[in-house]
Amino acid sequence: MQDGTCPKCQSPEVYRGSSREGDGLTAGIYPSIVEIVAGRKQTTLWIDTYICRACGYLEMRIANRDELSVLTQADGWEKVAPA
Ligand SMILES: [Zn+2]
Repeated sequence: MQDGTCPKCQSPEVYRGSSREGDGLTAGIYPSIVEIVAGRKQTTLWIDTYICRACGYLEMRIANRDELSVLTQADGWEKVAPA
């Protein structure tokens, strides 16, 4: 999806919405952030949303992936065991 191609229908009609922009009156995609708490530290993860104009497939990814290491110690989050 991030490369501009839809993984479901292979269309190149992929659009990205950033939660860091468009914080006006009605523009925006909700939810746009994830608040992570680890001990007494709070980290905001920003969500980029991708939508395929051709088939409607929607994908959300964390924009600031350099912050994702906080997940290993985050309250209320657990690693999902591979099936
Ligand atoms: Zn598609």
